[in-house]
Amino acid sequence: MRIAVIGAGVVGVATAYYLSLSGHDVTVVDRNAGPGEGTSFANGGQLSYSFSDALGSPEFIRALPGLVMNKDEGARVALSPGLALWGLKLLRHSSRRQSDELSLKTYRNALRSNELMQSLREHTGIEFDYRDSGKMINISGADAIRRAEHAIRLKNEYGCDNVILTGWEAVEVEPALKTFSELPEACIYSSGDQVGDAQMFTASLSEWLSSNTTCRFEYGEPVSGISTSNRRTNAVELQSGSIDCDAVVVCAGTDSNALLRPLGLKLPIRGMRGYSVTLPVGEHPPVTSITAHAQHFVFSRLGERIRIAGFADFIAECDDQQVRQRTDDLLRIARAIAPATADYDAAEKHRWSGVRPMTPNSQPIVSATPIDGLFINTGHGMLGWTLACASGDTLATLVREGAAS
Ligand SMILES: Cc1cc2nc3c(=O)[nH]c(=O)nc-3n(C[C@H](O)[C@H](O)[C@H](O)COP(=O)(O)OP(=O)(O)OC[C@H]3O[C@@H](n4cnc5c(N)ncnc54)[C@H](O)[C@@H]3O)c2cc1C
Repeated sequence: MRIAVIGAGVVGVATAYYLSLSGHDVTVVDRNAGPGEGTSFANGGQLSYSFSDALGSPEFIRALPGLVMNKDEGARVALSPGLALWGLKLLRHSSRRQSDELSLKTYRNALRSNELMQSLREHTGIEFDYRDSGKMINISGADAIRRAEHAIRLKNEYGCDNVILTGWEAVEVEPALKTFSELPEACIYSSGDQVGDAQMFTASLSEWLSSNTTCRFEYGEPVSGISTSNRRTNAVELQSGSIDCDAVVVCAGTDSNALLRPLGLKLPIRGMRGYSVTLPVGEHPPVTSITAHAQHFVFSRLGERIRIAGFADFIAECDDQQVRQRTDDLLRIARAIAPATADYDAAEKHRWSGVRPMTPNSQPIVSATPIDGLFINTGHGMLGWTLACASGDTLATLVREGAAS
């Protein structure tokens, strides 16, 4: 089949890879000048296979008043009727039972994504500052520790290797913690999690696809519409003309609804903005990727760079000044926690902001639609880099099943 994939983010390009392996003739279209320039550009880099907790949970409900009143420095909320409605849907998925079920579902999906990522690396040999880093989440307080114990018990039967370490035990695994201004009270440690640069992955995999398959990439023009005839897709529309195809996969992140609404489809996606700053390593950079849980951000080492990434802002618009202010917040808090991790005074600091496509049940939307030949692969929220391979592979299976039926 001739398949058009809209969006050359990490999800779109992984989808193109699995569709190409299935023998399809794939064209990836993106309005940006190159691959991975949307939310996949400078994210936290964590292949967070064993930390898959859903956003909605009883703990989230308890934190909600503080979040809405903007009392948490790591989150900003500009309440609107649309956000309130979406928030109500999120609350419906926040009971202990629902939250556990959804977290487990994501965990199983993430395990599959990990296996697929290892096969993809072996098959393509692409480079993207990938490392078997392990991951730590620093936590404090009896409630957080109880919650972590519960999450680990839940995943144990699927072989989860997460353990809770005391601060001193954590230092034995990651000596750079000694240079933090305070030792964490405890940390959840997973030796199996990894890091990699999602943008480098997207660019390298695109190059590999161009050289080794019939997959093509069209950049620099937005798709203005998806054409159908008799409720079947037959082309994607660009200003310069149209690309004829037998199927379309929408991987357009937070902008997917703009393409789907004219076709009568609407996804429950809301953007949650985050930020990152990438700096040269400091005197004592950690090898392990470290999450400062209470402050909602991560330190990831990507090659000789440290990426500090996180925060969770539900805000409509964001200009350059706001990005500057929020990345200043990020730098200030990061420096206070881990002064020797990065070279905070470096002249070259890469500041960035991106919007996570969030769904109320923290599950990506990987599905066929009521329109023949139209598929969706988006809504990966905080875990798009982690889940990209599993979602791309699932989507290719859906296309295969659709073609067979
Ligand atoms: C601060 C931050 C930290 C994060 N850290 C992590 C992490 O450590 N681990 C993890 O797993 N995930 C992380 N994430 C989440 C992850 O980055 C996202 O889930 C993922 O990038 C989503 O990928 P995507 O391909 O769906 O979207 P995108 O990368 O946004 O790609 C969508 C593409 O569609 C294109 N597009 C949209 N509309 C059109 C149109 N009409 N025509 C043509 N092209 C169009 C856009 O240009 C864009 O390139 C983080 C996110 C943020 C913001």
